[in-house]
Amino acid sequence: MASGRLSVCATPIGNLGDVTVRVLDALRDADLIAAEDTRVTRTLLARYGIETPMRSYHAHNLDSRTPEIVERIGAGERVALVSDAGTPGVSDPGAHLVDACIEADLAVEVLPGPSAIITALVASGLPTHAFYFGGFLPRKAGELRTRLTALADLDATLVFYESPRRTAATLAAIAEVLPGRQACMARELTKMHEEVVRGPVEEVAATLAQRELKGEVVLLVGPPARGERSPLDTDAIRVRLDELAAEGLKRSEAVKRVAEELGARRNDVYRIAHGHE
Ligand code: SAM
Repeated sequence: MASGRLSVCATPIGNLGDVTVRVLDALRDADLIAAEDTRVTRTLLARYGIETPMRSYHAHNLDSRTPEIVERIGAGERVALVSDAGTPGVSDPGAHLVDACIEADLAVEVLPGPSAIITALVASGLPTHAFYFGGFLPRKAGELRTRLTALADLDATLVFYESPRRTAATLAAIAEVLPGRQACMARELTKMHEEVVRGPVEEVAATLAQRELKGEVVLLVGPPARGERSPLDTDAIRVRLDELAAEGLKRSEAVKRVAEELGARRNDVYRIAHGHE
């Protein structure tokens, strides 16, 4: 049977009204809905009177569920994939199922709709000519600094997912590595307690340092001002050189890699590696 397909369905990021007619049809017509969290999806289905059977599909069962779903689609079934919020496949296990279906030469269609990234980017008021989505930032302070340093000269608005508990600390790190940038914290978008805080990163960091945040958060950082080039972050370079040495990389290789990763000149990294700075 040739009619089997995976329909990747974008669902609301908070407001249940933000769902397309086409997604509702696909959810209703599917043989099965693969849902990241069936409890979350049940609320959406109940609102629209949809009774399609559901199976959970999340990070902890994707190894066993993926072949099962691929087999069902291969046998002609229509499976709708949904995540907890937004477009499946972005920072959630959905990408794994999409890959597996493409690999098995099965039909995959994407039904567009809400995404926290685009909603936050537009709400931030920061430049949209180019943006970089960095998913969740590293939790370890050294790695966080290294990642931010690597992005310092990118002419694009930076967009990150963040947990409310780490938001203040992450903003403090951004203020340190990328001082003077415009920034934005977008929380609980499309929900009752939606909040968007905009301003210089130092101010946004200071405002939020006082508060205990709840809900879901996107952090954004504006691009560097024209002509601004970040000063050499010797600490970040040292940390990364040490990490690569611990991984067993030869010093010359590590110098080359760090220069590429952090956008620094190879001569500068070489001097730091040899203790001349
Ligand atoms: N695939 C989804 C999408 O398209 O937006 C995102 C999934 S990701 C695992 C979940 C993260 O998205 C949350 O940790 C938060 O950073 C962000 N997020 C989701 N809903 C949000 C909302 N209503 N307001 C702000 N951020 C949100």
